[in-house]
Amino acid sequence: MTSPTITGLTARLLTRPLTRAWGETVREMHVIEVVVSVSDGTSGTGFSWTPTIGPTAVLALLERDVRGFVVGRPAEAATLWPDLWAHLHEAGSGGLTTIAMAGVDLALWDRAATLAGQSVTDLLGRRHESAPVYGSGVNLHYTLDELAAQAERWVAAGYAGAKIKVGKQDLAEDVDRVAAVRDVLGPRRRLMIDANQRWDLPTARRATAALERYDLDWIEEPLRADDTWGYSQLRSSIDVPLALGENCHTIQRFRDLIAAAAVDIVQPNVVRVGGITPYLAIDSLARAHSLSVAPHLLPELSGQLALAAPVETWVEDVEDASFDHLGFLAAPTGATIVDGRFRSGTRPGLGFGFAPDNRLEQDFA
Ligand code: MG
Repeated sequence: MTSPTITGLTARLLTRPLTRAWGETVREMHVIEVVVSVSDGTSGTGFSWTPTIGPTAVLALLERDVRGFVVGRPAEAATLWPDLWAHLHEAGSGGLTTIAMAGVDLALWDRAATLAGQSVTDLLGRRHESAPVYGSGVNLHYTLDELAAQAERWVAAGYAGAKIKVGKQDLAEDVDRVAAVRDVLGPRRRLMIDANQRWDLPTARRATAALERYDLDWIEEPLRADDTWGYSQLRSSIDVPLALGENCHTIQRFRDLIAAAAVDIVQPNVVRVGGITPYLAIDSLARAHSLSVAPHLLPELSGQLALAAPVETWVEDVEDASFDHLGFLAAPTGATIVDGRFRSGTRPGLGFGFAPDNRLEQDFA
């Protein structure tokens, strides 16, 4: 019996306005639905995702360079992944290429789980009934009052931890904001900060010295994500754990960061690394080095992976930014966040069915 092969791939760009803007320039989000059809009559639905930059480029890669390569090849994620990666490598080892690849990889995992009659979590091996969620705010542009009010909503929602943006022009402002949020959270809830690559090494050291007194679980992306040397230097000179990975796209990149003793909490984004297949390898690599893994964003998908992780794993939830909330989905995935815990249902597959319509971008202007 020959193994089933891919017979077709369709990709569709969906754009939705953000309910709460992520700053002056980030007012909408993009998802590219990817449906892969297979010779045995089955199909799977996955997606690529990039909040702001490159959604039409990802769509073009899928239609011009991915579809023609995958048709006729085995409908098995782990078999296809390295060949497709090698094929796309000329356009970059990661980034837009791996984001495009994720659509295919997720579609194949969706199909495999559906065929097995299991959710992806159960196919991977469900180890937890729930996972802890932290409230994450894209809130550097919020006033101090707006920031404190957001932290109060997280406390009311039962979250055991929260993460806020730092990197104001004036460090004293960051100190005031972190102090205010710590005040709202109280001493027991966890507090993390995220600089989104805004600092250089001296600034990061100075900021850490000013902020560490607020009992920080981690400081995220203080430096450019590419600055392995800088992270290594910083980590050896501060006591606050360093988190990064959302802007790292290959397992080799993660390996090099780990080898350079440059990271404490590894944060792969399941779409940016190319799907569940490479995510699982990165997760294993990190845990083999006694590092914790905290997947970046996409709670409705990352949460399903967290439920199959060997140890309890944080799920990141940005307020009002889930696919369901933004209207990307035809029906809820079955994932819920209640009392600060993520749970997901047992419906077969990945659970993502995308809404049929796409409003034009000018509708949001
Ligand atoms: Mg971040």
